[in-house]
Amino acid sequence: MKKIAVLTSGGDAPGMNACIRAVVRTALYKNLKVIGIRRGYTGLLSGDFMKMTTGSVANIIQRGGTILGTSRCEEFRTSEGRARAFEMIQKEGIEGLIVIGGDGTFRGAYELSREGEVPIVGVPGTIDNDVYGTDETIGFDTAINTALEAIDKIRDTAASHERVFFVEVMGRSSGFIAAQVGLGGGAEFVVVPETRTDLNELCERLLKSIRRGKKACIVIVAEGKESGGAFQIAQQVNACIGTEYRVCVLGHIQRGGSPTARDRVLASKLGSAAVNALLAGHRNVMVGEVKGEIVLTPLEETWTKIKPIDRSLLELVDILAGGTRN
Ligand code: ADP
Repeated sequence: MKKIAVLTSGGDAPGMNACIRAVVRTALYKNLKVIGIRRGYTGLLSGDFMKMTTGSVANIIQRGGTILGTSRCEEFRTSEGRARAFEMIQKEGIEGLIVIGGDGTFRGAYELSREGEVPIVGVPGTIDNDVYGTDETIGFDTAINTALEAIDKIRDTAASHERVFFVEVMGRSSGFIAAQVGLGGGAEFVVVPETRTDLNELCERLLKSIRRGKKACIVIVAEGKESGGAFQIAQQVNACIGTEYRVCVLGHIQRGGSPTARDRVLASKLGSAAVNALLAGHRNVMVGEVKGEIVLTPLEETWTKIKPIDRSLLELVDILAGGTRN
């Protein structure tokens, strides 16, 4: 193998740059040529390539977002689109491809690898942490820290006005962010898509806390179709117990910012491991970190197998919110 390429795709996540840097510098160290593909699969289809040197990744380890850019590419979902992508790969002489993204990116990569002959290694980069085969994805730690910082500020105003705050955090179909942020932010209750929310229980909990004289009540809600999001939950609770409330949707600030130390270290380890995996002859796998060890997982397992949320975190939120069981 003499020439590899790297791209970032789907939702951006803090730490993607640290990962690109690790891929490029490890590859150069191993005497490989490296091509950066701009704007994910969109750039792969249009041949938007750039030669990467040591200097191209200088001074980016601390930057959020991705210097290569990312996109959502509808054309890549079709076999005609992927055939064009494969033509571009052949034309450029790319012998291995590293894709940094979430499960959507890996689905696309899996289809491409089935239809064309190019070894692919995936690196999990998404703030949602909803990828099987790694304890944490790149960007998750930064996102929960960003959300916590915001919640600490919300707590100040919630306590001053004695209001209940419903804070919506990201996580389209998973409650990883919500569970961590709920526990770390001292929330009253956490609403996640993995478990059915008992509205009566939520109302009871809030009433108990208010009666105890608690000034700041915070409910964390993972965005998502099932719950309808923080506005819907807040309205339902208000209809039951009539407390004054405010809703805050944290939104895209959770994607931005300088990656935490933990994300930079994870990104550096996984980016480097991805290059080593390609050189060792592994194909169509994702590199992840499980219990501190680098592990390889077949790409298709990263979305067919479900990484379970740690329910004990949710129980702990309940216990630490205070009050007694009965
Ligand atoms: P993420 O990688 O963050 O989950 P997306 O779900 O948006 O983000 O996926 C990124 C891109 O991967 C999509 O825009 C599309 O080009 C490609 N992709 C996603 N799912 C598939 C699929 N089932 N088949 C082929 N390509 C896909």
